[in-house]
Amino acid sequence: MKTKIPTLDLRIQYNSIKKEIDKALNSVLETGWFILGENVKNFEKEFAAYCDTKYGVGVGSGTEALHLSLLACGVKSGDEIITVPNVSAPTVSAITFANATPVFVDIDPETYTLSPEKLEICLKKRFTKKLKAIIPIHLYGHPVNMDPILEIAKKYNLKVIEDACQAHGAKYKEKKVGSIGNIGCFSFYPTKNLGAYGDGGMVVTNDEKTAERLRMLRNYGEEKKYYNVIKGFNSRLDELQAAVLRVKLKHLDQWNRARRKCAAFYNSLLQTSSVTIPIEKNYAKHVFHLYVIRAKQRNKLQELLKNKGIVTNIHYPLPMHLQQTYKDLGYKKNDFPTTEKFAQSVLSLPMFPELTKNQIEYICNTIRKFYV
Ligand SMILES: *Cc1c(COP(=O)(O)O)cnc(C)c1O
Repeated sequence: MKTKIPTLDLRIQYNSIKKEIDKALNSVLETGWFILGENVKNFEKEFAAYCDTKYGVGVGSGTEALHLSLLACGVKSGDEIITVPNVSAPTVSAITFANATPVFVDIDPETYTLSPEKLEICLKKRFTKKLKAIIPIHLYGHPVNMDPILEIAKKYNLKVIEDACQAHGAKYKEKKVGSIGNIGCFSFYPTKNLGAYGDGGMVVTNDEKTAERLRMLRNYGEEKKYYNVIKGFNSRLDELQAAVLRVKLKHLDQWNRARRKCAAFYNSLLQTSSVTIPIEKNYAKHVFHLYVIRAKQRNKLQELLKNKGIVTNIHYPLPMHLQQTYKDLGYKKNDFPTTEKFAQSVLSLPMFPELTKNQIEYICNTIRKFYV
């Protein structure tokens, strides 16, 4: 059957800003300058300002933002980094890319993000000198409860690197995510709240030294051309993507408002249904990268929705500690019960700024009918 409602449709957004985007892309083509030019420099300034931070460093992807941030913090081979298993591969592969070992802590059942209580328990039980940093993930667009995590990090002398790849513009107690810990990492993967037309990422920080190290790390470790002071990489945001992102950043708040409106409408229609709707804590401004419900008989519901032309996703079906590639970490089933339980019941409904009220009504009616 023909798809009625996709999980998201990037063409609608492009068509709404086509003139601005085409003009920006053309102007890059006409300069003939594609790597580390004026667009990257200006977008770094603009996005850092948007996040209320001093510095922004454009990199090749969100994964690279995390990887280079770990290195910029001095993480060495054999060090340990804490994060949650309730995520897809990038956050964890950034840790292993830095030759460090991921240490998992379970999530809070309300926000799906790092539980401060479980973090404290984990550190009491197994703190070692090898632990260097915590990567809280603002998953689905909802900020992590950062204050208790910052306190714990201070007590154990750990760096805090925020994975804000799903949360551009989200706020924790009036603070923009990405500006709260030592470093904030963003992805501009096309489907993110702020998405490029290809890969891209950004690291934001208030620490000048960290920003300087990141600028070298992303560009072969060069301090100036052909003079290498550290061992670096090639991981840069390019001019075409930066030009696109400069245009799109101006619309981000408006798109996030539209996402929040869609979420509120979903909530109103699903509140009294059999599914569990997402919550927004009073400290949080959620930006609904995803609208994730929990549903009984999730797989059957997903199948029914599919048959009715509604495309949904599961974020995420298999927790990181149970992935084949991370077997060597030595985790087993039931190590992280909340994450594991939710993997069986989470379902991401269509969510994008241009989603219409009619579409949401159709989706919610279909869900309600499934349970009668
Ligand atoms: C998208 C994403 C990343 C990585 O982004 P890429 O740009 O695809 O490398 C990292 N962490 C989370 C939580 C993400 O959603």
